[in-house]
Amino acid sequence: MELEQIEGVGKATAERLRKAGIANVETLAVTPARELKEKAEYKDLESALRIVEAARAALGSNFVTAWEHWQMTQKRMRCTTGSRALNNLLGGGIETQAITELVGQYASGKTQLCLMLCVTAHLKPENGGFGGSVLIFDTEGTFSSERVHQIASQNGLNPEEILHNIIISRVYTSDHQMFLLDNAFEKCAEEKVKLVIVDSVISHFRGEFLGRETLAERQQKLNLYMHKLLRLAEILNLAVVVTNQAQSDPTPQYGSQMADRPAGGNILAHACNTRVWLKRGKEGKRVARVFDSPCLPEGECVFRITEKGIEDVEDEESIRIKQKPEKQQQEEKPITH
Ligand code: ADP
Ligand code: MG
Repeated sequence: MELEQIEGVGKATAERLRKAGIANVETLAVTPARELKEKAEYKDLESALRIVEAARAALGSNFVTAWEHWQMTQKRMRCTTGSRALNNLLGGGIETQAITELVGQYASGKTQLCLMLCVTAHLKPENGGFGGSVLIFDTEGTFSSERVHQIASQNGLNPEEILHNIIISRVYTSDHQMFLLDNAFEKCAEEKVKLVIVDSVISHFRGEFLGRETLAERQQKLNLYMHKLLRLAEILNLAVVVTNQAQSDPTPQYGSQMADRPAGGNILAHACNTRVWLKRGKEGKRVARVFDSPCLPEGECVFRITEKGIEDVEDEESIRIKQKPEKQQQEEKPITH
């Protein structure tokens, strides 16, 4: 929604807001007044607050009935991960209007799963995808178009078409990460993005905020970031997947299965709807465990990373037999199911 559509906002104010990185009403509505005062140089907090409230009123999102909420949840979609076992664990796949967190040690398969989702998100909904584009915020420089190309072609899909529909945004600092997210509202609407990936959400925050005394500031900033991500997911009915690093726990509880814990503390724990712990298993297999979910039971599954991306550990033959024959008539090949 254009800034000029807010009551009392003329061309000059809209321009000033845009210069401050607030591109549209959706972004303005989720910007804290204190931040807006600094960014757009408002003389006092009250005037900044007034315009944020006007943006919220323009969106009409202050009060909704439970029925409206129910209708919104009915629009939720799920996207396949390529593994039936992992989909089942996730209650059917990666969900829109929610943040899914992938956490694990180095080489546990977080980025590989993200790259797989870059491909599956493109599949039509009837084949288990979102039928939309992907926006990936790459903070570690690990995005690999070669790997996406490989996964797409190994699954009989058109790699060129898929690569055209993935927008890469290289992120250099935590400030840059915040700035890019503000601009994502407009970009995602324009490009019909159905999946936003942040790989990884935490690396710049951990790298820049060193020492105990900076922890509060870091967590505050991360909190704001996560809330904006969730708003993006809800407003545009898209799925958000973030990856998170594991950090060693200085005080592991007796009997605890995890000697490591997810970085980001309570902020990430509260902001993410589904948290998945990834671990390397035997013979190159990967173990995924859902923990800390408000609606999914805790559970584990095994999958593997292959040239085709993410697959079940069952052999190819058994998967083919389980597939419904009518699916073979569709021009677009589903990835496993
Ligand atoms: P991280 O959790 O650090 O993001 P990655 O997702 O980058 O980890 O996983 C890297 C691992 O993925 C490699 O160590 C390798 O085991 C596996 N892998 C990467 N590409 C392939 C491939 N083409 N075939 C099979 N396994 C692969
Ligand atoms: Mg990675």
